Amino acid sequence: MRALPATANIARVVERTLSIIKPEVVARNQIGAILQHVEQTGLRIVATRMLQLDRRQAEGFYDVHRERPFFQSLVQFMTSGPVVVSVLEGDDAIARYRKLMGATDPEQADAGTLRKLFGTNVEHNAVHGSDAPDTARTEVAYFFGEADLVPR
Ligand code: GDP
Repeated sequence: MRALPATANIARVVERTLSIIKPEVVARNQIGAILQHVEQTGLRIVATRMLQLDRRQAEGFYDVHRERPFFQSLVQFMTSGPVVVSVLEGDDAIARYRKLMGATDPEQADAGTLRKLFGTNVEHNAVHGSDAPDTARTEVAYFFGEADLVPR
């Protein structure tokens, strides 16, 4: 009998992750272009909403970065115009969306990633995506209630 690859028995896990389309992309009318990449990747959008973050919301969302030198600049940027928040669902959604996004700094991001295609610099980098299951849960709950999510 032929040996199966070591990963063959590992069940893939359906996950949810939070995506934010950042203000510079919304301002450039490129929401649809980002969501098209998301859907082409096979991730399902199970909730989406546009909103204008206020300073308190942006500071709370990026609380882990409060001591970083770029914190105030990041909050200023994230409140500079509307954003689109979405919940993406699918097998390994968290890692798959991070892969689609690319590295934090668009200059370091792989070709074809959202940050390479749509990002401007390390701060204005087009999109946010949760980085782990616990942060994904917290971040989804930051913007959406369970009743807002439509699994499909
Ligand atoms: P991410 O998980 O790839 O989004 O990266 P981080 O969690 O480290 O950073 C959060 C966000 O802060 C990034 O997406 C950027 O918008 C911003 N950021 C990260 N590093 C820097 C930096 O060195 N300078 C500035 N101005 N912004 C940064």
